[in-house]
Amino acid sequence: MTQHPWQDRFADAMMKTFSPPLAMLVRGEGCYVWDEKGTQYLDFLAGIAVNSLGHAHPEVVAAVTKQIGTISHVSNYFATPPQIELAERLKRITGAGDEGRVYFCNSGAEANEAAFKLARLNNKGHRNRIISLHDSFHGRTMGALALSGKPHMREAFEPVPGGVEHIDSTIKALEATIDTTVAALFLEPVKGEAGVIDLPDGYLKRARELCTEHGVLLILDEIQTGIARSGAWFAYNHADILPDAVTIAKGMGGGVPIGALVTFGWASELFRRGQHGSTFAGNPLVTATANAVLGVIERDDLAANATLRGQQLREIILGFKSPWIEEVRGRGLLLGIGLTEPVALKLGAAALAEGLIVNAANETSIRIAPPLIVGDTELADFQDRFGRALASL
Ligand SMILES: *Cc1c(COP(=O)(O)O)cnc(C)c1O
Repeated sequence: MTQHPWQDRFADAMMKTFSPPLAMLVRGEGCYVWDEKGTQYLDFLAGIAVNSLGHAHPEVVAAVTKQIGTISHVSNYFATPPQIELAERLKRITGAGDEGRVYFCNSGAEANEAAFKLARLNNKGHRNRIISLHDSFHGRTMGALALSGKPHMREAFEPVPGGVEHIDSTIKALEATIDTTVAALFLEPVKGEAGVIDLPDGYLKRARELCTEHGVLLILDEIQTGIARSGAWFAYNHADILPDAVTIAKGMGGGVPIGALVTFGWASELFRRGQHGSTFAGNPLVTATANAVLGVIERDDLAANATLRGQQLREIILGFKSPWIEEVRGRGLLLGIGLTEPVALKLGAAALAEGLIVNAANETSIRIAPPLIVGDTELADFQDRFGRALASL
């Protein structure tokens, strides 16, 4: 009896929420993955900025193995050592310091849901407006959808929670909007899902000033940009500001589902006992794993590697002098290749055929977000494979 092809089994078993998968992956090591036929791919997407240390990193494997054999889950009626250690570490690396507080959750969307509830608690003087940006992405759950500036994702599911307004990503729009009726401003420091779009120069600094002046919570969504991806622990480090809250997920767990909301200063006083929670959140298995991931990033200074390799990648990409390539956006190892024509899907497919995983974020943008551990070998390999893909267009 012949087994049905995996494509058919996927289509017959999985909800129709995703497009047909590009390949069936069975194994990974470092910056490479293999499909069921044994074909090797250079992974320059890293599970969308998740696999910070690449695949099957020995220190992550050891941490997971040790913790699952020790104690993997307890309810939130109890504390565990890895949970407290990770919360303390996040307070330190975010710069939230003594007044910082950490809420753990299981995904990016959940981190933003927690931040949304935090925003509702900033209602002294009956502030009721929440501001975010057109074309921003904050996740797929209802609150996160309300925050996202992507109407086509939202329309089928309305009504979503109210009170969210979307503005243009200009300092002018910011100045015209932020006042004492606003509870919170949500921003992605670089709009990842939109195709890796940078904010204007000086934007975060001005947002910080206006939010401070008017008592507005500045909430940064660093789910994609955070955890050293931009070349610093957080993208706000480049602007030399601190937010009132930051949401974190993707790269923190190196592949295990974990997210966090970290609050700073007075924002840490807003949540009260019993106002939020989650069964799995911050369990010892995922927090021990995240401790291992963050420990390696810090010890090996992978933020510096992200800066160096990001710069080298930019040079490689512009060095192709391809008529298809207009610009390179983004920071560190979160880069967007802006294309002159809407050929991103074709280019993504051509890259895959050359054994390279990149992401067509939209019709005119290729997003690349390799593991933070990339080195000379992987960059040379990228140059070969992406160069061939470009030439085949
Ligand atoms: C991926 C992402 C989210 C959503 O995270 P999930 O873990 O998919 O729920 C939210 N905000 C940003 C900026 C993201 O990149």
